[in-house]
Amino acid sequence: MTVDPQLLEILACPDSHHTPLEYDERAQTLTCPECRRVFPVRDGLPVLLLEEAVGPAGASGGADAS
Ligand SMILES: [Zn+2]
Repeated sequence: MTVDPQLLEILACPDSHHTPLEYDERAQTLTCPECRRVFPVRDGLPVLLLEEAVGPAGASGGADAS
């Protein structure tokens, strides 16, 4: 199942930068080139939730380290 190309055009990262996402049809994922988060696509429906995203390698947690 593929994602509707018209839908892909309007998809953007839910983070504050709202960068357009790159669709990987083979992996069924959407990758944000800005923050490197990877969003899953389930049954052709992109899951654009920050809590569902797989973060970039090396970025751990999200805990405030300050
Ligand atoms: Zn992003």
